[in-house]
This record gives sequence, C-alpha cells and structure tokens, in this order.
Amino acid sequence: MCGIVGYVGDERKTKSVLIEGIKRLEYRGYDSAGVALLEAETEEPVVIRKVGRVDNLSNACKKALKEGFHAVNGIAHTRWATHGRVTDENAHPHRSSDGKIILAHNGVIENYESIRKFLTTKRYTFSSETDTEVLANLIAYHYQKEPESENGLSRFAKSVRKTFNHVEGTYGVAVICTDYPDRLVGARKGSPLILGVGKDECLLASDVSAVIANTNNVVYLNDGELVEITKDGYHISNWDYTQIEPVIHTVDWDIEDAEKSGFDHYMLKEIFEQPKSLENAMRGRFSEDASTAKFGGLNIDVSQLRQMDRILLLACGTAWHAALVIEYLIEKYARIPVEVEYASEFRYRNAPLDKNTLVGVISQSGETLDTLEALREAKRKGYHTMAITNGVGSSIARECHGGIYQHAGPEIGVASTKAFTSQVLIGAMFALYLARLRDMSYGEGKSIVAELKKVPDLVHQSLSEAEKIKEIAKRYSQYPDFLFLGRQSLFPIALEGALKLKEISYIHAEGYPAAEMKHGPIALVCEDCPSVFIVESDEIQNKVVANMQEVKARGGKVICIQSEDCTIPDGLADEVITLPKVHSMIAPLLATIPMQLLSYHIAIERDCDVDKPRNLAKSVTVE
Ligand code: GLU
Repeated sequence: MCGIVGYVGDERKTKSVLIEGIKRLEYRGYDSAGVALLEAETEEPVVIRKVGRVDNLSNACKKALKEGFHAVNGIAHTRWATHGRVTDENAHPHRSSDGKIILAHNGVIENYESIRKFLTTKRYTFSSETDTEVLANLIAYHYQKEPESENGLSRFAKSVRKTFNHVEGTYGVAVICTDYPDRLVGARKGSPLILGVGKDECLLASDVSAVIANTNNVVYLNDGELVEITKDGYHISNWDYTQIEPVIHTVDWDIEDAEKSGFDHYMLKEIFEQPKSLENAMRGRFSEDASTAKFGGLNIDVSQLRQMDRILLLACGTAWHAALVIEYLIEKYARIPVEVEYASEFRYRNAPLDKNTLVGVISQSGETLDTLEALREAKRKGYHTMAITNGVGSSIARECHGGIYQHAGPEIGVASTKAFTSQVLIGAMFALYLARLRDMSYGEGKSIVAELKKVPDLVHQSLSEAEKIKEIAKRYSQYPDFLFLGRQSLFPIALEGALKLKEISYIHAEGYPAAEMKHGPIALVCEDCPSVFIVESDEIQNKVVANMQEVKARGGKVICIQSEDCTIPDGLADEVITLPKVHSMIAPLLATIPMQLLSYHIAIERDCDVDKPRNLAKSVTVE
C-alpha cells in the first residue's frame, strides 16, 4: 500500500506534480502524507509531513512555501502505516541523520531492527518508529564510504544498490541525495514502481495514475531493478550493475479516466461505468461464429488445456468472491472441478495439488502481494499459471504464464465495484471457453454468447433502480447489523454484498448461503437485523422463500433482490428490488449492481467517506 511519486523536470512544476500525483495515489493509503523538495536556488531540502489526507499536506505546503517556490526535484508519499503510529514524525519522506539522504518507501523492511542496531553503533540516529527510516540511514552510511563512480552509476545510485543487498522485505523507493540535485534514484522489490518518461521530465510512481497527467510513456520496473532519473533521461540497471534496455509502454487511457467526471465519488462513477467496463472486457473476445470465447494471452494450447482436470483459483478480498462465482460457473458449464483458496493461506500451507492443475490468480491491481506470492509459489512447484487482472504491466501480469486483462480502466474507489463485475464476466467467458473445449454444444455456446453480449445493456437497465435503492438506503442506514443471503452462484454475491457494506459504512454484516441460516446465523435475526435476500426464479426459489418466511417469523425485515419473474408471496418482503430475468451465467453479475448501490447509499446516509474508508487501502502490497 501507500503511494510514492518522484519528479525531476520543470522546476516550476515540481511541487504541483508531486501533490497532484499523491492525490491520485491516495486510494493506496491515506493516513498521512509528506513531500520533500530541493529548493531551486539554494538546493536546500524542505520536508513537510502531515497526518491526514493529502489536502492537509497541500494546505501545510501553501502556508510554509512562499509564492513562486520552485524545486529542482522532489519526492512525495501518502502512507498506510505498517510500522509506527500515524504521526507527523512517522510520515514519509524520512531523512538520514546526516541530512544527505531523503527517501519515500512503500513496503515493509523485515530486518529493520538489526539494521537499526548496526547503524546506531555507527552513530546514526533515528527520529521515527518506522521500519523505513533505516533505509535512509543505511544509504547514507554506504554513501559516505563509496568512492566517486567512474562509469555507469553515480556514487549516489551505487550506495542505494549496496543498501538493498542488506535488506530483507519489500520496497519501492524514491530517493533524493542532497549532493545530486539533478537526479532521483528509484528501486523496487515486491512493491510496484514505474518510471514515467516525459519531454524534459522523468517521474517515478507507484502506479500510472500519478504520471498520466504528464506522460503516457511508462516503463514497468522489475523486481531488483534500480533506476536513476534526470530531466534528460534515465538509466536502469540490475543487481549486478548491468544496464537494462527497457520496454516503453504507451498507456491507453488518459487523465479523465482517473477523475470523478461530475460524480460525487469515484465509487459511484465506477458503479455507473460498468456498462462500459463490461463491454471492454468482452471486446474482441468471441469467436467469429459467436459460439465461444477466445483469449489472446493464455499461452497454453488447447490440447494442454484439455488435459487440465482441476483448477485452483487464488485471490484475496473481493477478487476471492469473484473466484467463488467463477468456481460455480466452471463446474456447472465445463464440469471441471475447481477449488478456491485465499492466496494468503495457500502460500504458506503447502497444499498437495494434482499434477494436471491449472492455477489461476485474480487481482485487480496485479500487485496484491499475497496473490503475487501465491502465484510465485505455484510456479515454483511447476504449475501452469494464469491471471485475471486489470493491472496492465503489473507484477502479476508479468510473472504469470498467461492471462486475461480486464480492461476496466482505472479503479480508484477503495471498495471494488467495476473490477469485480469484470472479473466475474471474464470468469463466465472462460467457463464458456472451457465448456466448448469439452462437452458444450455449438448451439448452447451460441445462445450463451448472445446472452453475454446483452450484459452491458442489462447492467444499464439495473442501474435505473438507483433512485429506488437510495430511498431504501435512507430507511435502513441506521441498523447495526445485516445478513446477506443467497444460494448457489448468488452465495458469493451475498458475501460480496456484506463485504461492501462493512468496508464503506462500518456496519457489521455477514454473508451466508440462505440455507445455512438455520445452522447459526438465524440467532442474529431480530427487528434490528435486516436480511438482504438475493433470489432467482430457479429450482430452489421456494427454498429461499421459506428462509424469508423464517426471518419474517422472527421479526426481521426482508430486503429482496429478485429477478422479475420470481414468485414471492405478496407482503413477504419489506422492500423489493427487481432485476431483469437473465441467463443463470449472468445472474450473479447482475445481482451485484443493487448490492453496490445499496452499500454506497447507506454509507452516504451515515456520512462515511466512501472512497477512502477507515483503515483500508486499495492494492494491498504488504502481507
Ligand atoms: N512500512 C512503512 C511505514 O509503515 C511503509 C508502509 C507502506 O508501504 O504504506 O511507514
């Protein structure tokens, strides 16, 4: 988590590029923020750090820096604390005790205590409780020992490289050395870092959204790479100091995609963007005869794929719920056994796997550390891996054997919405693809493709319930507990509905398969605990109706999200939200839309900051 930005270029722009940049990265962490700038005339550093949002920092900068303040270079950080409380002193950037090195860090330094002890014996001092501060002092320590470089890397860059030979853990860093005002150094291992290459300017950032206002040309740095940037160019090198010729990618979205575009919140904008993001997920991915899906980047041939007799899906959080839906769809349509596991558990438990297992990972950002490490573990054991990710060029995208990009555009609201539905849609298309490689007929394939193509319109139609859901949210916003109940492929949607509500409105909520209610959760049912049921007109509709009756009998309120042809007895539900009747492959995706709107509007009623919920951050790049 946490976001870092570095800039060398036009001195007049340095401050605003950095503040704007970390504002765009605020979804990654927002408990405190800071900036370090080398003043243009004196080349003296100014470091300003503040608890709270980037706006606090921005105001503090306005007060502290005189009109026309220019800086030759600078770095900035928005923090999601792992080590040390949320205080001004613990906010980044951190400065070495000799004053030479200033650094912003994303990640966790695992051996920071032993490094700190060592540096204390060398008379370096510490003023924060963070793990990060050891990095600034260790670079300073190597820097004072390092002779001036004759070729390739500067003395500054070499001291950063030496430092990371002694560091265990994860890092993406942007570093200033006061003796080198014309440059910055960046390095990464385990935490993302990209290089933005503009005209007469270079940037470092945790992700593309921070550089997109300046340039569309980016280099996704790999683990172990170190980059030295000046306004005229960059030099990337490896552990052994060899220079690397990078691939420059052109980002195909622009700054408007990363803005609110008139919506009150990113989350609401992203909910309403779903017809478009889902269209993008499908574009060019159906066969010419429209009887199956096709994917360009799986990197596995059909005969190999046919031999896979198991699939293991690994993910965290909302993506784990998407994996659960995909499990239902693959098992139902392709008849291949699927197992879903939390990535964080898989990587440590050494589970036995069949040799013909395909391992799939799902991560919006492509940087979720637990998922990345699970992917690495699966690769280490020789499994063929694939990823579903929205993060083009992300670590997961680069390290898996093949995969499917979501093309959902940037998702900035911390609570995932459009990324979830596009993962589910891609999962449905993948299930169709696998099914057509096995037993599904041409005719059935064709009819499913026709249904999938309707998804953007159906989602659009479902969004028209927004006003009604807003009114329901007003009536229910003050309840302390909620149950979310659904069956089969709608059960993961119940889990997702409960998670969304917890995340952004801090209401206790639990998701269960509706039939499980009587095995425990029914004890929670009372006047103060409404139940949200999701129900389809299928063969078990009546069972779910019976569960609703059980809730009603115990004085609980029922909010029912149902397809339009459901036959629910009049008066049983206190609130009804109707969805179009759709193919069962699409039902879970569609049922998600009212869940998202319900949690959004309840959170608004409770005055919660929906885009930046407390304690959370997007893209969890720490363990
Ligand atoms: N470990 C560092 C800290 O707690 C950085 C955390 C992060 O990456 O957000 O300050």
